[in-house]
Amino acid sequence: MMSRQQQVLLQKKPRMVLCVCGHSRELDMLPTTSQQVQQDTRALLACSSCPACHRGERQAVAIGRRDAFGLVPLAGEDVLQNGLAEEVRAHLLEMLSPALAADALPALVAVLNLHKDAAFWVEHRAVLWSTNKQQMATVLLDLLQSQEWSTGEEREELT
Ligand SMILES: [Zn+2]
Repeated sequence: MMSRQQQVLLQKKPRMVLCVCGHSRELDMLPTTSQQVQQDTRALLACSSCPACHRGERQAVAIGRRDAFGLVPLAGEDVLQNGLAEEVRAHLLEMLSPALAADALPALVAVLNLHKDAAFWVEHRAVLWSTNKQQMATVLLDLLQSQEWSTGEEREELT
């Protein structure tokens, strides 16, 4: 159901769609797009949040998960980078934790806590769109290896 505000908006400016979050976004579809597809797309967008709010929602979920699992907050250059980094790490946790026994979870959390800089996670953001366990494992390996680099003295003692 369209709200009255949405109907008015559509009549005034047919290219604008009012999202569920209250923000409007421009919809620029090809002139060849059928009326039905245009209508369906509008209806879909009217039931979803604008990109900025959607990002905020995803990041709020990631931060909730971070706090629930005892992950350290990530530090980066800006809010956008931090938010993306939190999402990447939360996704990794979400993908890997169901396969773990409950008593192995703290070990995973400890590995994920090895890197607090957002840049590391942003660099590995490809895992956000992946469910590939091999790719997840590569990130874990990078986490462990870069930890070794930062404690080079200890590593030398081991060899
Ligand atoms: Zn919005």
